[in-house]
Amino acid sequence: MLDLIKKAKETHCLSKEEIILLLKDETHTSDLFSAADEVRKEFIGSDVELRALIEFSNYCRNNCCYCGIRRDNRNAQRYRLSSQEIISHARMAFEAGYKTVVLQSGEDVYFTTERLEKIIQAIKETGMAVTLSIGEKTYEEYKAYRDAGADRYLLRIETTDRNLYHRLDPGMSWDNRANCLKIIKELGYELGSGSLVGLPGQSIESIAGDILFFKEIDADMIGIGPFIPHAQTPLANAEGKAFFLSLKMMALTRLLLPDINIPATTAMEVLHPNGRMLALNSGANVVMPNVTQEQYRRLYQLYPGKTEVSAKDCPTDPIVDQILRSGRTISSTKGFRGEYIKGEKT
Ligand code: SAM
Repeated sequence: MLDLIKKAKETHCLSKEEIILLLKDETHTSDLFSAADEVRKEFIGSDVELRALIEFSNYCRNNCCYCGIRRDNRNAQRYRLSSQEIISHARMAFEAGYKTVVLQSGEDVYFTTERLEKIIQAIKETGMAVTLSIGEKTYEEYKAYRDAGADRYLLRIETTDRNLYHRLDPGMSWDNRANCLKIIKELGYELGSGSLVGLPGQSIESIAGDILFFKEIDADMIGIGPFIPHAQTPLANAEGKAFFLSLKMMALTRLLLPDINIPATTAMEVLHPNGRMLALNSGANVVMPNVTQEQYRRLYQLYPGKTEVSAKDCPTDPIVDQILRSGRTISSTKGFRGEYIKGEKT
């Protein structure tokens, strides 16, 4: 195992079989996490990127079996911010010192291209980078947001196991999602993707395939989240909560894609009281504090426990203190991939 970790650290290449061995191994996890931490240090340096997350609507036309805001969850209390509220959330984040906002929502058809263009343009006037995480769109829509100034787009592939995807995301097409990622990259966005880990029926082999897929699409950011079952979904009784497997997948992603941005995800913090710091010490370099106003944030219930973790968040998230106390620094840039060449800012 140590030889494989060394190989990954030095060459940033592993075969699928080698990734599977490391994902299955339980005895050298701390060596794996340290190697990922060292690669992060070498390629990115000690800066942690903070991105302000605004969850602006929980209306969704999709029906993903794992997700608390799925269309058929009649118990979900729906909300959407007005364009003006979204812009003022972003301005508050800017005043609190953020350099990037992430606008996330369910697939809410109320937000037409025209509405989104105006929102993006208004936020861009602050000088902040704008990341969108609003699901599957057409080429024309992605192009319009990009022309309006959007810099990054996050769309997790969720799993590269097509059969599993089609079972858990009824009515959706894996090929279409993969094609969206291709379009996003072609349009010059920074491309964010990622996976859920611990889905019922998900194999270690497919998780290894996910990591190779991230390399293949040349993702600029990868978010890996443990799946946490939500009581009001068809997967209420699934096991999920695969914290350490998620951490291992994240560490391997750092070893194989050494210079990308990797968030310490909220779902990790939900499953472990120090989850985000553990992730930051195992390859991650991004944190996305939730700056959505409390009355909306508690309704964006993708999975249980999320609201409690993000209740700690505010423009001055206590994670910032934890980061500084751990000897890391807070980035003063917008954190685009490639701003660092081997740990030094360009
Ligand atoms: N609608 C957009 C999309 O499809 O990309 C963005 C919003 S979607 C709710 C954001 C992410 O939440 C999904 O990509 C999924 O990985 C994650 N998620 C949903 N349900 C979850 C659960 N039960 N546990 C952990 N993460 C979950």
